[in-house]
Amino acid sequence: MRYAVLSDVHANLEALEAVLQDAQQQAVAGFLCLGDFVGYGPDPDACVERLRCLLSVGLVGNHDLAALGRLDARRFNLFARAAVEWTQAQLSGPVRAYLERLQPRETFEGFLLVHASPRDPVEEYILDWETAEDNFRAAEFQVCLFGHTHVPVHFAHDGVRTHVFPLFPGAPRRLKPNFRHLVNVGSVGQPRDGDPRAAYVIVDTQAATVELRRVEYPIEAVQAKMQARGLPRPLWERLSEGR
Ligand code: ZN
Repeated sequence: MRYAVLSDVHANLEALEAVLQDAQQQAVAGFLCLGDFVGYGPDPDACVERLRCLLSVGLVGNHDLAALGRLDARRFNLFARAAVEWTQAQLSGPVRAYLERLQPRETFEGFLLVHASPRDPVEEYILDWETAEDNFRAAEFQVCLFGHTHVPVHFAHDGVRTHVFPLFPGAPRRLKPNFRHLVNVGSVGQPRDGDPRAAYVIVDTQAATVELRRVEYPIEAVQAKMQARGLPRPLWERLSEGR
């Protein structure tokens, strides 16, 4: 089975639509979302509504929890906090109720799914091999898919050492059975790896591969909406840089 794994949509509806269209052409059997549906972007309600009926599994992320008032937004920087406060006022009752039901950690077809990290599914950032290695030691899993950093990457642990592999579009990586794996699927709505295109991953459970996909979307349209809604300038400026 092939699944499209999305994360960190961050209320960017144009990026989400582009990704869904691309995934439908890839003959996927289902969709998973690793959290942060909202926060930063201009269309929080619409993004949740678009995704909720499609998802086999959805996780809640730290920005979703902050928008629900369940995580203190003072933990965020000033701009992120402004966006969270704006988002809180936008969420409809049904969207709020849907997000309230989600967990930050689930298992699906033998995969561990977390928003942030296996040992701290809500807030820890796995940006380097040391943190990845700490997580390989701290939790039992064969393959874990995660988001949160907005940077796609593949960490593999051979029982002794942790290896780091970049993910490139069009170059599926095999999840070797004698290794353990931590795969970051990147961000749909606010990529931060220097490539402004929306990112997501296709997992093929039969072939045991993960493949990064990058999708163009109308960035200027989203920036114009964010500006019109009064969201902080640095949050929309960064979309064109992918930083
Ligand atoms: Zn995020």
